[in-house]
Amino acid sequence: MNSAIDPLQMGLMLPKFEQADSRLFEQEVLATISHELRTPLTVIQGFAQYLWRQEANVAPSERMECLAEIIEACDRQEKLIYRLLRLSHLTHVVDPLDLIPGEVSALVHRAIAIQQPLAPRHQLFLEPPAGPVPLARMHPEYVHEVLEHLLENAVKYSPQGGTVTVSVQCHVPDARQELPAALRGAPCAVEVLVSDEGYGIPAEHLESIFQPFHRVDMRLTREIGGLGIGLAFCRRAIEAQGGAIWAESVQGQGSTFHCLLPCA
Ligand code: ADP
Repeated sequence: MNSAIDPLQMGLMLPKFEQADSRLFEQEVLATISHELRTPLTVIQGFAQYLWRQEANVAPSERMECLAEIIEACDRQEKLIYRLLRLSHLTHVVDPLDLIPGEVSALVHRAIAIQQPLAPRHQLFLEPPAGPVPLARMHPEYVHEVLEHLLENAVKYSPQGGTVTVSVQCHVPDARQELPAALRGAPCAVEVLVSDEGYGIPAEHLESIFQPFHRVDMRLTREIGGLGIGLAFCRRAIEAQGGAIWAESVQGQGSTFHCLLPCA
């Protein structure tokens, strides 16, 4: 097992387990990381060696196909490493983020424009808002990354296709809701909802999916691919902006992720 990247050494806050559970969890995490990093590497090695050995016999069109596979695998690996580093960075950042007023729906448009071409079986769309939506106080780059990740998951976990709906609305915090200080007592917040028609998430996992390396179904996630760190990043990024993120779901029907950001 390749243990070059040790999440524990990276200082990521992992959930607390009894010793035996912890060992098993650590093994699963390392197995997942090795698997996820090794898969694209195997693709790169395979195609590169084929091109090297068969150089004289490979038709130009086939060469292009091999190179396209290599580039895709490099992109995948780069993304994984970037996400690991991003999560680790966010864990260690102590300085408050520079927050500026911004229009969330503009970021949703951008994220949809990036994700839609990658999801030919899905229809991604932004619902027109029912009323005026205030500007949010946010870190645009982090919000963009969160939106991209939520859209990517919505597509990934609804492999049969379907509609992914995003809505942005003004949310009046409910006094009974447990909210971060920046949202408590505020007259309103900006809420983003990302809904899909996919597998859904069992109720007992709705909270733990935001912990690093937690995946609902090891086998399923292995088939689909993923490290289980995207939502942990999303939660830290949103909370670092004084916001909140959570999920609700009906198994077999789909999931909705809610993000609240303070108004500017
Ligand atoms: P990854 O997708 O890389 O495994 P994430 O942190 O993004 O990591 O998600 C953690 C887990 O939450 C996923 O493995 C999956 O089981 C579950 N999950 C996330 N988003 C969805 C969704 N839209 N529908 C169903 N399950 C989801």
